[in-house]
Amino acid sequence: MEKINSFKIDHTKLLRGIYVSRTDIVGGEVVTTYDIRVCQPYKDTPMDGAAAHTIEHIAATLLRNDEKIGNKVIYFGPMGCLTGFYLILIGAPDINTVWWHMRNIFADISRWGDCIAEPIPGGWQIECGNYKFHSLDGARKIARRFYSDILQHDPSERHTTYPNDVSKVVIICAMECEEKLLKDLRIEGTSEIHLIRSGIGKVNAAVATAQAIDMFEPDVVISFGYAGGLGDGMKGKMVFADKVFYHDVWHGEGNELGQVQGSPMYFYCANENKYITKAFTGLLAKPLVYGTIATGDYFVESTAMVNKIANIYPGTIAVDMESAAIAQVCEKVGTPFMAYRLVSDIVGAQDQVDQYERTIKGE
Ligand SMILES: [Zn+2]
Repeated sequence: MEKINSFKIDHTKLLRGIYVSRTDIVGGEVVTTYDIRVCQPYKDTPMDGAAAHTIEHIAATLLRNDEKIGNKVIYFGPMGCLTGFYLILIGAPDINTVWWHMRNIFADISRWGDCIAEPIPGGWQIECGNYKFHSLDGARKIARRFYSDILQHDPSERHTTYPNDVSKVVIICAMECEEKLLKDLRIEGTSEIHLIRSGIGKVNAAVATAQAIDMFEPDVVISFGYAGGLGDGMKGKMVFADKVFYHDVWHGEGNELGQVQGSPMYFYCANENKYITKAFTGLLAKPLVYGTIATGDYFVESTAMVNKIANIYPGTIAVDMESAAIAQVCEKVGTPFMAYRLVSDIVGAQDQVDQYERTIKGE
């Protein structure tokens, strides 16, 4: 069985705070689940069940009555491990917004029945499945501690970002000049980075990828190197691909143009990992753009070719000679794939070859 996302996080490294646990598309709408992590796993004593029940009653009531997010609240309730709560909202409010709401709510809970002279909402037999199972005193203590230690401060990265769940990374480059660019690459939270030089083109890239996966069993394979940019605006940018595909494949009737028979038309990339992006953008100092990369075994150099690719496959912003081949191997064996490519030249520009040569010489 596949692990659900929140089990993939190393809970022994998790701090108290508020985290985006997952986003889902439900009936065309985005739904975001937040972890409200009240206790640090394996360090703090988990919540008392009755106190967690009381917090659930008060917080759910306050959330639903909130003018700003009341109509976005799907659910608030305790985690089974009793180290926190899940909050599920319609849309994707950013973590700071959620932080401010939770700050107010936990401040209110810490004064409930005292400065806020209210009974526990829904605290009657007809309103709850276990109405005697409450501890207002316990709830107040938990809320006060979470508020004063964590929520009253500004949301910091440590308390809003999961630790990196990617440990072993394989990076495939075609050429030595590309490999050199990454010699000082460090990615926070990873244990191994293997930089492999494959040689140029699809078959070379595929062979190197298959061998590297076999040898290192990486958590992700990254295609890195230069790419031709589609359009002047791509000058000096680094592309992070959402998906990659072949622009030089036709397997006949029943397949899409670009599709290898038996494989999907597009190879989708893994979600962005902010630790990896931070390492690449920090080292290479290039602005990141998001879009699709087309791969083929020839150097795209005419405006006619560019127009053809852009017309058939909208959203394509760069071309290279390896990424889709690396992705196809990854897709076959179930290894996550990403591509970061530096734009070395603008395809179809009069001095394209010159641009390319100057880039790879490091000028
Ligand atoms: Zn209840």
